[in-house]
Amino acid sequence: MNEQLAILGGPMTISPNEAKFNWPRITTDLEMAVTKQLHKSISIYDHSGILKEFEDDFSNYHERKMGLLFNSGTSAIYAMYKGIELGPGDEVICPTYTFFATVSPLMSTGARPIFCDCRMDGNIDPAEIIRKITPKTRAVMVTHMWGIPCDMDIIQNICLQNNLVLLEDCSHAHGASFNGKKVGTFGAAAAWSLQGQKIITGGEGGILLTDSDNIYYRALSLGHYNKRCHQEIPTDHPLSVFAQTGFGQKFRAHPLAIAIARQQFGHLDEWIKQKSIFAGNILDELKKCSFLSMPVCSGVQPSWYALVMLFNEKAAHGVKLGKFIETLHAEGLVEVDLPRSTGPIHGLPLFRSPEQVFPELYQYEPVEAAMFDNADKFYNTAIKIPVWAFSDDDAIVNAYIKGFKKVINVVENYPGCLY
Ligand SMILES: *Cc1c(COP(=O)(O)O)cnc(C)c1O
Repeated sequence: MNEQLAILGGPMTISPNEAKFNWPRITTDLEMAVTKQLHKSISIYDHSGILKEFEDDFSNYHERKMGLLFNSGTSAIYAMYKGIELGPGDEVICPTYTFFATVSPLMSTGARPIFCDCRMDGNIDPAEIIRKITPKTRAVMVTHMWGIPCDMDIIQNICLQNNLVLLEDCSHAHGASFNGKKVGTFGAAAAWSLQGQKIITGGEGGILLTDSDNIYYRALSLGHYNKRCHQEIPTDHPLSVFAQTGFGQKFRAHPLAIAIARQQFGHLDEWIKQKSIFAGNILDELKKCSFLSMPVCSGVQPSWYALVMLFNEKAAHGVKLGKFIETLHAEGLVEVDLPRSTGPIHGLPLFRSPEQVFPELYQYEPVEAAMFDNADKFYNTAIKIPVWAFSDDDAIVNAYIKGFKKVINVVENYPGCLY
């Protein structure tokens, strides 16, 4: 039973229009949530309304004391770094395989990122963290890449033993958990992006959770001011004198964005469940493939922000990754993607030459050309597909499985026609 590949003139597996991943899904419920908020308020000055509702829902879901919304995930991450009072001379251990905004806000503090390689699941390697600790290390930042939780037991222990602040970037991992404990609950603070592509989205937005009053008041003062600061910072706290102005910046979230995010958040658990079913089907169907390695997720509940598999050219009888992707695209599987804007980030000019951007914070320091073999390998072989979240997406998911199997069969048995 050999169907001719579309790239060689055969029939497509699915029409490209049907094969798209549209996120978020615009339902009447979502439209109503926005309209309702539009009539209520489009700017909220204090801790009230839709902003407070979302912060309360989100922090209760994670069993954390306080939540603070921002206009982006990047601002929320910046607020974590400012919240723990980093400055020149401090070092923060960070992953190199991540989206750059995990680390870029650090460069406004004067602290230096110390990059770590990843494991072959894309997540920061705990052994690397241990190797990179110096007397200057203040904190460890992790990203739960593509929604698969990092090894939080070990990382939490490393931080405890070395008196380091643990921070989490959960922007890929809304609702994910490690050994039954939600990501975003392991460290001193955690941040989530609510940007348009993310599982819980407001189009733009971000949120920070913490149990620490000090982190919270600093994060609040950083990007909020006046009413909300007066309302929340106790008068005996040293930051209360700055309440009128905050620290001079404004990072407040837009109520319409948060109305969207709140409506979406109500579906998170159901989406994770459905995504897990689809991801399970895909893994079951493709696990026998001789040249793709699939994510292993024992003891963790991923959020399935995406499903990332690694391509082994040698095992694919020399068929090139680019050709494999081209062949899948020709089948109509248009969402198969090589994630190019995510990691490794250590070589980016902002991290190598911060003194050119922030001469008041950094002095020139030669940065040795570091080698991060796993991050390079992961980056160069990663294939990403979306994981659909609605039960009525089963036809698309099945078409992706069918298309993959059709191409895999040819690569395994007749690779010559793809050279
Ligand atoms: C999206 C994202 C960010 C940045 O969030 P924005 O809301 O776009 O500012 C940071 N880290 C990771 C891992 C992300 O995926």
